[in-house]
Amino acid sequence: MFRSVLVLGYIRGIRIEIHISWLIIFVLLLVSLGAGLNQAYPDWSVPVVLITTVGTVLLFFASILAHEMGHSIVAIRRGIPVKAITLFIFGGMAQISKDSESANDEFWIAIAGPAVSFALAAGFLLLALPAAAISEPLSVAMSWLGLINLIVAVFNLIPGFPLDGGRVFRALVWKFTGDATLGMRAAVMGGRLVAYGLFAVGLWSMLAMGNLLGGLWIMIIAWFLLNMAEASGRDFGLRKRLHGLRARDLADQDLPLVPRATPVDEWVHDHMLADGLRAHFVGKRDDIIGLVTLSDARKLPRERWSQTTVADIMTPTDDLVHVGSDSRADEILQLINERGLNQLPVMDGERVVGWIDRRRLLGTIELHLELKA
Ligand SMILES: [Zn+2]
Repeated sequence: MFRSVLVLGYIRGIRIEIHISWLIIFVLLLVSLGAGLNQAYPDWSVPVVLITTVGTVLLFFASILAHEMGHSIVAIRRGIPVKAITLFIFGGMAQISKDSESANDEFWIAIAGPAVSFALAAGFLLLALPAAAISEPLSVAMSWLGLINLIVAVFNLIPGFPLDGGRVFRALVWKFTGDATLGMRAAVMGGRLVAYGLFAVGLWSMLAMGNLLGGLWIMIIAWFLLNMAEASGRDFGLRKRLHGLRARDLADQDLPLVPRATPVDEWVHDHMLADGLRAHFVGKRDDIIGLVTLSDARKLPRERWSQTTVADIMTPTDDLVHVGSDSRADEILQLINERGLNQLPVMDGERVVGWIDRRRLLGTIELHLELKA
């Protein structure tokens, strides 16, 4: 979803990254907190204000990261992989690779983030008192961090998708009615209400309170939440319609093949351009050793195309991103979109049994849906 990110590192295999838009909120917070402290504590020297501001803002983002780690660790414990945690302009987001398959998983993953924020709030507030005896700035920072974590926890528990509270709400409806769709509908509806409500608050804050920047900010967040709620609703609808559809239903068993010793230029002209496919499996039908694609050829200087074989530049079967015949259609769509794949091999163990072409996939899905209807 987000490009232009800076990778900070990995924690337990989860990529920790910062999206470029995060810089805006980082600077905004530095400026507003710095100005606020300067006004509230005129006796503090400039370096003290600066150090307190930077330290507090960094700890705030560490708190957001901890909140997302909360979701992620519970997800991983429940067998749902987490790829990355992204800090961006509206906070943090854990990129959990798939939806929960049970109401219980959904509930515990969703509640874990706010639980971490509540714990941090309590910790910082408890430290604020003894910190006062050591230094005033330290105590002020601890109180601010305690309050802001409390706000993060409470705000996230508002029961509307895509907020954590929306997921908790969805899990509860799902659990008590046994109907995942009903849970999703309720949570999306909740999300819409939250967004409209926030929009009204933003408007009121701008018009009645004269708080232009703050009001605008709230309205932008409302718009973002509304979009996320609608998109999650649409995704869920699509996944529901795709239910039951597997890789084997979508795969083409007629594999485009090229012999392993074929020079690259011959492959490009006699295979790729001839049949209009940007990728071919290398080897024989029952002994496929890899996949060669247009981008492999483009990495090789053109003057070497005649002396290089497709086997030299292909991706070996072992390294191919692939799915099994049993993989679900929604997972396949997600994988293709996330990785920007044009073709996806379907493999049973070591054996390539078919392939899915991005351009034909949507048409095939449509046909299946029409047949079902
Ligand atoms: Zn959360």
